Amino acid sequence: MGGSDSRVVVVGAGVVGLTVAVRLAEQGRRVDVLARDLPLETTSVIAAALWYPYEARPQHRVNAWASRSYAAFSELAAHPESGVRLVAGTEVLTAGTPDPWWAGSVPDLARASPPTGYADAWSFTAPLVDMPVHLTWLRERLLELGGTLTRVTLADLPRPEDGIVVNCSGLGARTLAGETDVHPGRGQVLLVMGADVDRWWLDGSGPTYVVPRTRHVVVGGTFDDGAWDRTPSPGTAAAILERAFRLVPSLVDARVVGHRVGLRPVRSEVRLERVGDVVHCYGHGGAGVTLALGCADEVVELVEG
Ligand SMILES: Cc1cc2nc3c(=O)[nH]c(=O)nc-3n(C[C@H](O)[C@H](O)[C@H](O)COP(=O)(O)OP(=O)(O)OC[C@H]3O[C@@H](n4cnc5c(N)ncnc54)[C@H](O)[C@@H]3O)c2cc1C
Repeated sequence: MGGSDSRVVVVGAGVVGLTVAVRLAEQGRRVDVLARDLPLETTSVIAAALWYPYEARPQHRVNAWASRSYAAFSELAAHPESGVRLVAGTEVLTAGTPDPWWAGSVPDLARASPPTGYADAWSFTAPLVDMPVHLTWLRERLLELGGTLTRVTLADLPRPEDGIVVNCSGLGARTLAGETDVHPGRGQVLLVMGADVDRWWLDGSGPTYVVPRTRHVVVGGTFDDGAWDRTPSPGTAAAILERAFRLVPSLVDARVVGHRVGLRPVRSEVRLERVGDVVHCYGHGGAGVTLALGCADEVVELVEG
């Protein structure tokens, strides 16, 4: 089973599942994606989505995946239709801080003078991914390569007679892989328009972030470990905006056009391993976009291996 001519079933149509599916289809595999939520209904579409290895472990594997993703995103940035851009930005810090553990994965991390109220800061160029555009582009690419995408809610992982299954079900792995380690890290964001923001800003202590997309600016955020509630809270939205104004005062001109909540699939460690004819790839926490391309390359190696 699992020869290079056999079929692969990918469960999940978030950024992880679709990226894996496209990479496998590019290798000439017949790929069928099964998903309860279609791409624009997933957690992935809510992501800000800044390349940043946030809330994902273990460090050495995350760093390797993030680094591979950075290189792949840099190539995609030459194709604006992919929704990927390389944009400079600044992370501010409340105390003097040594270089981050992932510093070697970005080409140009450099100290910046901190804005008033902060003790330290660094700037670097990061991939920014406009998720509605990117997920639509991934879906189209999959279909062009002969793959399929079907809506179905599964009670168990499928057991195809003649192929391999890749489990990219995010939080759904609680049911499909029968484990409780993966759990929600609730995040709330606002979408705003009319603000003059051409670079990203991050204060990890909130977390507070301001990330420009093509049409909107995403303003966040929160991280509530274990919270399942998907309804945006008006009080939380007001508190996010107040923090964001302090970080980026030009947001004061912005008009709020939307509120979103997503549940990050948090796990003690990202699960990326092959067990028989199943490759598990889930639990990317707050970094699923950042890690998707690097993880997809490893999934391809496990499928082909
Ligand atoms: C507010 C917020 C901001 C974020 N910002 C960033 C950021 O800036 N950078 C970054 O890298 N990451 C960010 N993230 C994290 C990122 O969104 C996640 O890590 C990523 O979306 C996880 O992708 P996924 O494909 O694993 O899961 P999902 O997008 O949740 O997709 C899971 C798929 O599995 C399917 N599925 C589940 N169960 C079943 C079942 N039983 N049957 C069939 N299908 C099933 C679902 O329907 C869905 O299609 C953010 C997240 C949030 C909430």
